[in-house]
Amino acid sequence: MSYINFYACCHITKGFTYSIITDLERGIYFSFPTEYFEILSQKNIPAQNNPYSSDPYFQELLNFLEKNKFIYQTQQKENISEVNTEFILPYEIEDIIIDAANGEDLNYKTEKIDIFCEAIQFRIYGDCTVDNLYHSINNIRAIGISSIEIIINYNEQLITQEAYADLYQKNNIISRIIVMNSPEAKKAEGSSILFTTSKLSSCEQCGIISESLFMPNQRTFLTSQKFNSCLNKKLSIDINGEIKNCPSMKESFGNISEISLSKASGMPSLKKYWDVKKDDIEICKDCEFRYICTDCRAYTQQDEIINDIDYSKPLKCSYDPYEGKWFSEKPILYK
Ligand code: SF4
Repeated sequence: MSYINFYACCHITKGFTYSIITDLERGIYFSFPTEYFEILSQKNIPAQNNPYSSDPYFQELLNFLEKNKFIYQTQQKENISEVNTEFILPYEIEDIIIDAANGEDLNYKTEKIDIFCEAIQFRIYGDCTVDNLYHSINNIRAIGISSIEIIINYNEQLITQEAYADLYQKNNIISRIIVMNSPEAKKAEGSSILFTTSKLSSCEQCGIISESLFMPNQRTFLTSQKFNSCLNKKLSIDINGEIKNCPSMKESFGNISEISLSKASGMPSLKKYWDVKKDDIEICKDCEFRYICTDCRAYTQQDEIINDIDYSKPLKCSYDPYEGKWFSEKPILYK
């Protein structure tokens, strides 16, 4: 008698029509019909004489999973212990988004950062010079934040492609630079500088849910089972200086010209969505992608609001887990 088990890094998520196996080490996932969820979620599945032994599709599925190293067979039952799914990061705030009208505005806002976090993102909509970027990077470096992502519109007169390469090379704090509205889409060789043709025009471009933006990694998979996959431990300063959970959300907790970020971050109402997870959200709770998909509370269907908390499905998602189909692919930004 032989038995089938999944590798420890593979996790099964049940959806209404389809379920998925996510390999958190390789960052890949595979869909299968939910009717096989019960048997596949067991430990030590008998390779023969199981309820689906005579189902050719199931046998084909097992062959595929074995060939692609999701499962392995043993001659004896294995003693499989539960995997610890606790995932705790030591940061009070994990990421900050700064929306800046231009380089001067970015310098002003970065000078106001008085809180430590893991990563920061600059989104600069208007004119910005290399000097503005150096100045703001130094402001962030002084606080001890270790990662900066820069999203900016292309303007060859203000920052040349060589200047971006130089900036990236001299500042290992920069994780990625995305230059939007560029005449051509390309990736600069040997760096994480991406040039894309779509324009960065407002925070309303955010919130798109697409298969190509899924994050089948351990961090997203584990945190999204307990917390909101977009808003947990996030702080933002919007283009007008308003401190928010996300720049696209309406509720402000004060303007950066009047209140410090650290003070605003202590307000309980800023955290009201931090533990609203996908399992709490209508429709998403039946979706197989719920632990690898990011959430959005700024743009929602607005049809499930309970006690001032919006539990409705993200508006910019066209996936229907009951049909198991995407109804339209939205344009992908920042990719
Ligand atoms: S239905 Fe919800 S969980 Fe599924 S893909 Fe859309 S937003 Fe993500």
